[in-house]
Amino acid sequence: MAYSLSCNCTNCVNNERGLCEANNINVSGMNAHASQGTQCDTFMEKGLKNAFSSMSNINVAGELKQLYSNASIEMAPNIRCSALNCRYNSNQMCTASDVKIDGTRAITSSKTCCDTFIE
Ligand code: SF4
Ligand code: SF4
Repeated sequence: MAYSLSCNCTNCVNNERGLCEANNINVSGMNAHASQGTQCDTFMEKGLKNAFSSMSNINVAGELKQLYSNASIEMAPNIRCSALNCRYNSNQMCTASDVKIDGTRAITSSKTCCDTFIE
């Protein structure tokens, strides 16, 4: 499990002040040799329909802790990842201690990427 995950995809329904409130996310990039070949498949554009469908994947405990603690990041989803060329990938799970997902203007998964990817 990742120690922390920050994300600047502010159009994503799971994004809360630069953190990800999902319990689990899926990153893909089977053939990636650089960050640009990866993407967060769990991205969903903000909107009422997506807000409802993402509810089952919300890290409620982490959100509550985050409200009361500025000292540490409590919202840190489990990250499944198919980018097998990344040095942090172990059996399709991410083992990096700090992960950053990028996609400031993304309105689809394909415009997001994992900045932490290192081959
Ligand atoms: S793009 Fe991915 S990492 Fe970022 S908030 Fe959405 S689900 Fe979480
Ligand atoms: S750091 Fe590597 S293993 Fe972790 S999510 Fe990003 S691409 Fe996948």
